[in-house]
Formats: sequence, structure tokens, C-alpha cells
Amino acid sequence: MFHSLSQLAKWSSAKVIGNTDLMIQKIAYDSRKTFVADQTLFVAIKSVNNDGHVYIPELYEKGMRAFLVEEQAQVNYSVYPDAGFIICNNTVAGLQAIAAAVRQSLTIPFIGITGSNGKTIVKEWLARLLESHYRVGRSPRSFNSQLGVPLSIWMMEQDIEMAIIEAGISQPGEMKALADCIAPDFGIFTNIGRAHQENFASIDEKLEEKLKLFESAHTIFFHGDDALIGEALLSRYPEKKLLSCGKGDGNALQLLLQDSGSEGAVLQLSWNGQPFTLHFPYQDVIAIDNLLLVVLVALELELPLQNVINEVPKLQAIAMRLEQKEGINNCLLIDDGYNADLTALELGLDFLNQMGAKRGLSKTLILSDIYQSGMHHQELYAQIQKLANEKGVEKLIGIGEHLYTAMDGVNAYRTTADFLAKVDVNSYKNEAILLKGSRQFAFEQISALLEQRRHKTVLEINLNALAYNVQYFRSKLKKETRLLAMVKAFSYGTGAFEIANLLQHQKVDYLGVAFADEGIELRKAGITLPIIVMNPELSSFPMMLEYELEPEIYSFQVLDAYLTAVQRQGLTNVPVHIKIDTGMNRLGFVPSEIPQLIEQLRSTHQLMVSSVFSHLAGSDEALHDGFTQKQIDRFKQACETMQNGLGRGFIRHLLNSAGIERFADAQFDMVRLGIGMYGVSAIHDEALKQVNTLKSYVSQIKEVTAGETVGYSRKGQAESARRIAVIPIGYADGYNRRLSNGVGQVLINGHRAPVIGNICMDMCMADVTQIHVQEGDEVEIFGAGISISEVAEKLDTIPYEILTSISRRVKRVYVME
Ligand SMILES: *Cc1c(COP(=O)(O)O)cnc(C)c1O
Repeated sequence: MFHSLSQLAKWSSAKVIGNTDLMIQKIAYDSRKTFVADQTLFVAIKSVNNDGHVYIPELYEKGMRAFLVEEQAQVNYSVYPDAGFIICNNTVAGLQAIAAAVRQSLTIPFIGITGSNGKTIVKEWLARLLESHYRVGRSPRSFNSQLGVPLSIWMMEQDIEMAIIEAGISQPGEMKALADCIAPDFGIFTNIGRAHQENFASIDEKLEEKLKLFESAHTIFFHGDDALIGEALLSRYPEKKLLSCGKGDGNALQLLLQDSGSEGAVLQLSWNGQPFTLHFPYQDVIAIDNLLLVVLVALELELPLQNVINEVPKLQAIAMRLEQKEGINNCLLIDDGYNADLTALELGLDFLNQMGAKRGLSKTLILSDIYQSGMHHQELYAQIQKLANEKGVEKLIGIGEHLYTAMDGVNAYRTTADFLAKVDVNSYKNEAILLKGSRQFAFEQISALLEQRRHKTVLEINLNALAYNVQYFRSKLKKETRLLAMVKAFSYGTGAFEIANLLQHQKVDYLGVAFADEGIELRKAGITLPIIVMNPELSSFPMMLEYELEPEIYSFQVLDAYLTAVQRQGLTNVPVHIKIDTGMNRLGFVPSEIPQLIEQLRSTHQLMVSSVFSHLAGSDEALHDGFTQKQIDRFKQACETMQNGLGRGFIRHLLNSAGIERFADAQFDMVRLGIGMYGVSAIHDEALKQVNTLKSYVSQIKEVTAGETVGYSRKGQAESARRIAVIPIGYADGYNRRLSNGVGQVLINGHRAPVIGNICMDMCMADVTQIHVQEGDEVEIFGAGISISEVAEKLDTIPYEILTSISRRVKRVYVME
């Protein structure tokens, strides 16, 4: 798009002097990033730290001729013959006025997005969905400020069918200017942050300010589950079409059900009464909230439902936008394989230029044909060449018919497949490589080829095996016996939400956690099962009531404190779980306290005894069977006394995993399953499935000659020549240091290799002299080949400690067939 300087001056209601016929295509405001002087308007901006007017002589020198300046800056115009100046009071306001005029000249729908968080991701995802059907323009990156918004509008291509612009503010009074620029037909309100009020007196003031964006809009989209926003919109814009998404049934787009699949979430939704299912690569609440808005807007804009269903699973790829990855041969990959137009290319090249300089790498661009540029491909290619030269690109690879023709087949390929077939990957060395391809070119394949194969140390959790084990234990119980699943300590180290979610699907009856925090986290993630907190802290009672977490009551002190908390909130019949100590000598009422306990419980209707339980001290060892029997008898007795005293029944439960395996007769009304879910059996039951695999990979192989030593303190002595594999897992990951020096073994390619030398903080070494091993090979620390129980035995401890010691920095990966 070209406009004359005099036209721009008219739009900004400003004076213009000098050469008013200059044609302007680009706008620049940062002298350091201004490389193309021709047909560019330089906007001189005064900020706290800098003054753009200072750079005018330097830019004039470089060939810049068009300037937007402030009257007060008193530029000496006479020394710049053949330059043109637009002179106004405030250059940012001037630029905004120009943008507003440009906006008015575009008769397509504009979508304005604001809110405290999520603006950029909502914009990007929405663009991604809509692009499957429309030509969409959008603000680049997070260009949402007083300056970013007008620049975004300036950059909109002529041939787009709709534009998406985000607007961000930090102070009262800022939104009006952005609203005038964007003049959105559709408004999206992502959310309102409650924590910081930044420069606002109150949340209401902040909300009020943000809502100003929507003055011109006829339709506004928002989250219906946030009453504050809904009410504010309704009172401010009662005449507008207000469309919401959320869980409640008043929403135009309703989230009916959320399941977790192997790769993300499976969402059951309803749009105007029409149900449909989406597979979404993310599970977290925030991502799902953002998605709901995006889908709502897309459907209202009449994007075919099938497009939504097809595109949503691919949304993950947006994470690739300008994502940096380590490439082969010390290359850096900048992956922007999703939108190819000249503006986006320029931004990508800017980034390439910066990163190349920072890392001392040469610069390579791999580019696909750009469609919809409105230019003939020879002309387009000339533009691309010019841009690439300006940004210091040393190697340009073209993919696609147009580029192939324009480049006479030199460094060019007709298709991505052609490139993949012919490329010599090792010709890429010490380069920063920008991958910029339209989506149909599937540049992710090139990215995968050039990316360094990077492995990680992960704890892999097989959810199918976990589900199987739960059902297996259930099959050992009477049909009516209930099941409580223990998910304390981050579900024995395997991950709180994912496991709880699976268990909810397996229809267990209760979940058990150690502390209130763990329960709150599960509630926030959408777990609705009853949850018992085993170690409730007195200070957490109000929160527990709020989140409907049920306490274990183990002493009179806890009972009194909980009753007080319940009374304060005026609640009745609040469920509690009474713990009896039958011989563990840990928490719980001892049998002699039961009469007083009954008396206290009978005197209140505010608490209701849901269950009475106890815990076995030695259910896994035959040695203690006599004692276990005694505990069972005492428990039975205690329950009888309680039942008679209270005059009503309750759920009775005693058995843990080993108890279920060895004392199934004592299952009472419910059992509490823990470690058994993970495939650890007290009776070495082969039917249980291995759930957890801790794995890493070989990062390097070393040849060590006789007499050398390996690792710290030179503990690993090589009596003869050895081959050593270095593995990036250490005691900081939970790989216990006492497994050093041959005590522990790892499994590589089906063979065991002893640990050699001391285990380090982040690494360990294994002797692989006897095995065929290559760098990059997978290493099992424990799993199907080396059981958790075996590792535990070597360390003279129990599998529970092995599992719960794997540090949080080890990524948990969930697999499900
Ligand atoms: C941890 C725990 C369980 C589960 O024990 P496992 O041995 O893992 O089956 C059961 N009950 C209570 C009270 C617990 O703390």
C-alpha cells in the first residue's frame, strides 16, 4: 500500500512542508532497525529515555526523506532539501490518526481483542483457524501498544478479508486511542486479571477502561463463567450482541465435558445446541479457556464446523512460531513455518539477523512460495531478494514452483519432498536457519530433519497399565466394596492431576491426599470426586470447606478446630473421616478415647461421620501376620462401638494395597489402594503391569584405556580398556548416589550395564564394553527390564521411596494407547 505524504498529513490533520509528493510504503520509528530508507516514513518519537528527532540527520544521510515530527522539536527543515515533513503536536497521536484513516478505508470486518492475559495466543489461534477459510490479517507478535496497534493496521495487506488486532493498555485513558484506530466490528474480551491493579484504582476501573475498546463493535465475545465480566458487559452494552463460552448452559458455546486423551484434551462442546467433539493438544485450564473463545468467535464468523474440528488439533504447531531449536552441526533453527507473507517474512528475517549476530552464525533462509502477495512472482522474488540482502542472508533456498522458476532452479526445489530427497544435511553447518513456509509446504518435515535429535530424561507413565491395575485390584474385591485411590505425594511421584483424572474415569469412589494443598490443586484442575485429606492442618480448614475436601479427624484437637470452622460457616452434616489407631502408633484415636469421641460427635449435627478407618502396620510381611490379625480385630471392635454409640452406620476401611492382596477378608466397605496401582506387589503378583519407566539416553561414548579412572574421586577404575556411556541422569534427578560403582545397573538395547564410578549430580556413567551401544540410544533406569523393587532392594529401601524421590525436574510423560 502506498500513500502520499500529503495524504498522510491530511489524515493526521497536520501541517506538511517540503516534498509532499513522496510516496510512503513503510513506517519506521527505531533508527537502529531502519535499513530501507526509500519510501519509508520515519516517525520521530519522544520517550523518557530517547528522542527520535536526534536521529534525523543520520537518517537523512542514509537516504531517508519522509519524517513525521513534533512541532516542539524545532527541526531545522532548511538543511534537508528534497525531504518532506509532517509536523504535528504528538507523533504517536499523529500515527494513530493515520492508522484510523487507513482502517476506515478497509471495509472488511475488524476483530479487536483485549483482556489481561491471552491476547496474543487468542489472536494467533483465531488467525490459524480462520486462515483455513479466509484471508486473514493480524497484528504481528504482540504489537498491541499505543505504537504497535497503528503499526499493525498500517501493515494490513489490501487483499485480506478480515483483520485481527490486539489492544493492550497499562494506564487509564489509553484505550480510547486504540479503539479509534481499530474500530472493531467484533470484540473479544479474554479475561480480567485480579491480582495486580497496576495503575488502576480498582478492578472495576480497569475493566471499565478495557471495555472502551468495544464502543464500535456490534458483537462481543467473552467467558460466561466469569460473572464480573458478563455483568459489566451487560450493563455497559445492553444493546450489543453478547456471546459467551464456558461450562454453564447459558453460554452460546458450552463446554459439556472434558476428557484427557493421550495427547491433550478431548472436549465435548455444544454450539447453539449442536454437539461436537474437539481434540486439543493442551490440557491446562488456561489453554482451554483461550480455545473456547477462539472457537466461539470462529463459529460466529461462520467458519465451517468441520474446519474447526480439523484445525484445532494442529494448534500446537503455533508454539513453533519463531521457536528456536538446536540444529545439527551447531546450527540454530528458527521455526516460523506457518504463515508466509512479506510482512511476516521481514519480521522473521529481523529475528534471524539478531540471532545470527548474537551467536556468530551465518544466516540462511529456507522459504516457500508466497501466495496472495498480489505480485507477479518475478517481482515478488526481486522483493524477497532485496529483503534478504538487507538482512544479511547469505544462503537462500527456495521451495515451490514459483521460486524454482524465478531462481532458475539454483538453490531451489519444486516441492518440499524434492528438497528432502536431495538435501545434503551435512552441508548445513554453523548457520542460523530461518524456516519460513506456507502451511501447505509442511516445513515441519524440514525442521525435523535439521533438528538435533534431542532426548530427555523422562519418567514415562503408562496410563493403560495404571487403569489395568486398578481394575485388577477391583476384581479381587467384592462387587459392593468401594475403592479409595491414594494420590498423595504427587501420586507417588507420577503427577497429581493426570493420575486423578484417570482415576475419576476409572470410577473410583474416593481420592486420598496427604495435605489440603494437593486436594485444592486437584479441585482447580476439575477433579470432582470426594477427596479425603489425611493430614489436614488446622489453618487449612476454611479452604478445605471451600473446596469440599473432607478431613481425616485423628484427635480431639482436630475435631474441635474443624467443628469451629464448620460452625463459623453455618454448615451442617459436613462429612468427616475418623481415624482409629489400632497399633500403628501414628495418627488416630486410641480405643480408650472412643467413648468420649462418640459423646462429642453425638452432641453436634454439624458433622457427619462418613467413614471410620485405620491403617495396617505390616500388611506386606508374613512375619507380622499375627499382629495384622490383631489390628483387624481391634478395628472391627472399634467400628462396632462407634456404630452403637452413634446409632448409625458409616463406611469402614482398613486395607492398603498389600492388605488387599493378603487380607482380602478384611475389606469391610472400602479399601485404600496406593502403590499397587503402579504395579508394585507385595506378593510378586506377575499379573500386575509395570506403569513407570524412568529413562534417559546415551549422550556420549568414551573409550578409556587400562589404568584410567572414571568420574569424581576417581572411583571408577578401569583395569582394562573399557567403553563408557555417559548418561544425563544424576542424583539431583533422584538417581540415588548409593547405586554408584557397580551397585546399580542400567538397561541399554536389552542388555544390562553396570554403573561405573560415582553418580554425579546431573550425570552418571555406565560400562558398556560388552554391549553394542551408540550415542543417542535409550537407557532404562527402571521399568520393564529393571523393576522398581529391584532398585529398592539394592538401596535397602522400599519402592515407595524410589518413586517419590524422582525429582520434579524430570519431565513426566503420559502414554496411552
Ligand atoms: C498411603 C496410604 C495408603 C496406601 O498405601 P499403599 O501401601 O500404597 O497401598 C492407604 N492408607 C493410608 C492411610 C495411607 O497413608
